[in-house]
Amino acid sequence: MRKPVIAGNWKMYKTIAESVDEALALKPLVTNANHCEVVIAPVFTAIKTVADRLEGSNIKVAGQDCSTEVEEGPHTGEVTAFMLRDAGASYVIVGHSERRHVYFETDAMVRKKCQAGISSGLTAIMCVGETLEQREQGNAENIVRGQLNSGLGGLTASDLNRIIMAYEPVWAIGTGRTATPEQAQEMHAFIRRVFAEGHSAKAAEALRILYGGSVKPENIAGLMAQTDIDGALVGGASLKAKTFAQIVNYQMR
Ligand code: PEP
Repeated sequence: MRKPVIAGNWKMYKTIAESVDEALALKPLVTNANHCEVVIAPVFTAIKTVADRLEGSNIKVAGQDCSTEVEEGPHTGEVTAFMLRDAGASYVIVGHSERRHVYFETDAMVRKKCQAGISSGLTAIMCVGETLEQREQGNAENIVRGQLNSGLGGLTASDLNRIIMAYEPVWAIGTGRTATPEQAQEMHAFIRRVFAEGHSAKAAEALRILYGGSVKPENIAGLMAQTDIDGALVGGASLKAKTFAQIVNYQMR
C-alpha cells in the first residue's frame, strides 16, 4: 500500500513571517490527515523557522532545490542538501520545470541533485514532464523516459526508498489547465513501467508518483481516484492554508 504524499511548493512567495503564519494556519486543518504525508516547501530563508515551529506536527518541510555539490565549498549562492537537512527539511524537490526551463538545469544536474539529496538523508521528489510542443509532437513518453532514466541513474536499490517521482506536464503548471485524470493516469502508469524496467517490479510497485499541474480542491479527488496517482505536488493552490488543507483532506469531502 503506497501512502499518498500531498506536497505544497511555495515557490518564491512569502517572507519568513508570512511562511510561519501560513504553516501555523495549516497545522490544525490537517492534524487528522493520517492518510497521507503532508509536506510544504517554503523559500530557503524560511525553512529553519517553519520547521522549528512545525516540530511535532504531521507537516514535514522540503527544500525547493539543492546544489549539485555535496560538500561545502566555494559555490556562491548554492545550498547543499545537507544544509537543508540541517535547517529541518526532510524532503527536497529536484528538477522542477521552472529550474529546468528558466534556469536551464540539465538531466545530468538533476541526477546529481537527486543523489545529493538522498546521500544527505533527504527524500528527493524528482519532477519530470513534457512541454506542450513535445506532447503535440507525440514525444511526451520519450521525454519523460529520458528524464526518468537519466535522473535516477546510478541509484542503488536502497536509494530507491528515498525517491518520489512527480509527473508535472509543463503545460499544466501555473496555467489553470490540468491534465485529465485519464491523461495523468496514462503517464503515471508509463513511469511505473519504465521504473520497473530500470530497477525492479517490487521497487516500481512501491514508488510514489505524484501529479502536479494546476491541482485544486475541485480536481484532486478525480486525480487521486486513479490507480497510479499517489499524491500531488501543488503550486498556486498550496499558498493558502485553507485551500491546501482542502486538497490534503480530499478523501474527507
Ligand atoms: C508546481 O509548482 O509544482 C505546480 C504544479 O504549480 P501549480 O499547482 O500552480 O500548477
